[in-house]
Amino acid sequence: MKKIVTSKKYLVLGLLTLLVWGCSKVPLTGRRQIKLLPESTLIQASSLSYQQVLDTANIVRTGAQAEMVKRVGNRIAASVDKYMKENGFESRLEGFEWEFNLIQDDNVNAWCMSGGKVAFYTGILPICQDETGVAVVMGHEIAHAIARHGNERVSQSLALQGLATGTDLLLLIKEKPEAARDLVNIAYGVGGQLGMLAYSRKHESEADEMGLTFMAMAGYNPSEAPVFWDRMGKLGGQRPPLMLSTHPHPEKRQEDLRKLVPNAMIIYNQNKK
Ligand SMILES: [Zn+2]
Repeated sequence: MKKIVTSKKYLVLGLLTLLVWGCSKVPLTGRRQIKLLPESTLIQASSLSYQQVLDTANIVRTGAQAEMVKRVGNRIAASVDKYMKENGFESRLEGFEWEFNLIQDDNVNAWCMSGGKVAFYTGILPICQDETGVAVVMGHEIAHAIARHGNERVSQSLALQGLATGTDLLLLIKEKPEAARDLVNIAYGVGGQLGMLAYSRKHESEADEMGLTFMAMAGYNPSEAPVFWDRMGKLGGQRPPLMLSTHPHPEKRQEDLRKLVPNAMIIYNQNKK
């Protein structure tokens, strides 16, 4: 009898594990994610933070550069939406309402929060050089959001403070809105009162890999990605740009990217516009 109970216990445990893992596999890379906060809570928190950023920022609303950022964003988002729907990841886009804004700011930075809230700073455009360069950054930032890297970072920060559920985050938003905003801003690479937090090497490599595919799906030449990161890497030195503080430059980044380019080129050739 005892044996049966034990095996039942393992069966239930196994099924639960399957359920958790099955629900949280990163698209494209297949990495398994556990112990994430509900994404809906993160989307809610991100939406508040994004609005606060926009309220105080100098948004570039017209002109070729603003239009280019929106065009690249919409093209990549449409390809991501299509890919996610066709590959059983539709639920990961629940609550997404894509938004792309160019902010007049000399900082070299760009980010995408949960729910598809994107900001590009004018300071990064000279390094992008052209529309394909913008697509490299856009693909990479959207990949961070699709892979739920911000969620992983917020979940880890909350766990360190002894808070571990979506309700905890909602309470934090209600009771200590500034602390919640800082937490979210830092997790998504915006920076904040508390400073900066670099994405881990694992997150950077994953965003590079996914971003390369996303830009190729949208018809942007992926062989430009290692070239862009070459330019970005050269900006290091004593005062590295914000982008490099939040998106560290993994060793062998260009080498790893170049290995992925041939496959991405096949996708690009099928989607070239
Ligand atoms: Zn990154």
